Amino acid sequence: DPRIHGIKSKIRVVPNFPKPEIMFQDITTLLLDPKAFKDTIDLFVERYKGKNISVVAGIEARGFIFGPPIALAIGAKFVPLRKPKKLPEAWELKSLLHSSICSKMGLELGLLTLKNELEQNSQGDVIREEYILEYGRDCLEMHVGAVKPGERALVVDDLIATGGTLCAAMNLLERAGAEVAECACVIELPDLKGRARLNGKPLYVLVESH
Ligand code: IMP
Repeated sequence: DPRIHGIKSKIRVVPNFPKPEIMFQDITTLLLDPKAFKDTIDLFVERYKGKNISVVAGIEARGFIFGPPIALAIGAKFVPLRKPKKLPEAWELKSLLHSSICSKMGLELGLLTLKNELEQNSQGDVIREEYILEYGRDCLEMHVGAVKPGERALVVDDLIATGGTLCAAMNLLERAGAEVAECACVIELPDLKGRARLNGKPLYVLVESH
């Protein structure tokens, strides 16, 4: 596709960022070019429109840039997969709401009300997946009520390196009962063999960088 070359030419490669010997693929320069940015979104939309995908799950932070326009264009909802402790949890919210009730109507009745409320509303429950990075660990979180069992999901991020992040994202969706149709990234670093960690799930990328 002739659009790919234009997209690739707009990705800036920054040597030694964030640490020595890393060639950082910087998509902020792609976003500065409305044609290349639109071509990027269009290529994904052309691939996924009419494919019965009801959830686009974007990985924090750059999956939040590419995921939402794809979701809107294919008529799917957008679900953010966030870094730890960013999503509000039902338990904490309800506890705050009901601490006042407890003090007014007696502890036992207050706690019963709280229990009922929690059972009726699991929308705010958060599930998390830890994963190993080259140095250390990271974690992704999702609101479990955001995805219904049986939904078909697309996972979106800017880049796949070792594949650990996409793997954690897919685990979250599958734990919520969704089927992951495919993962989509703008850039792949094929030398790191991240595809091998995706348990056979298809991965679609626009640009490879060596
Ligand atoms: P992986 O888990 O090793 O596949 O790393 C992928 C994650 O790290 C993605 O969320 C990327 O946004 C981020 N990442 C790793 N290297 C780069 C890079 O060179 N540019 C932009 N993001 C990167």
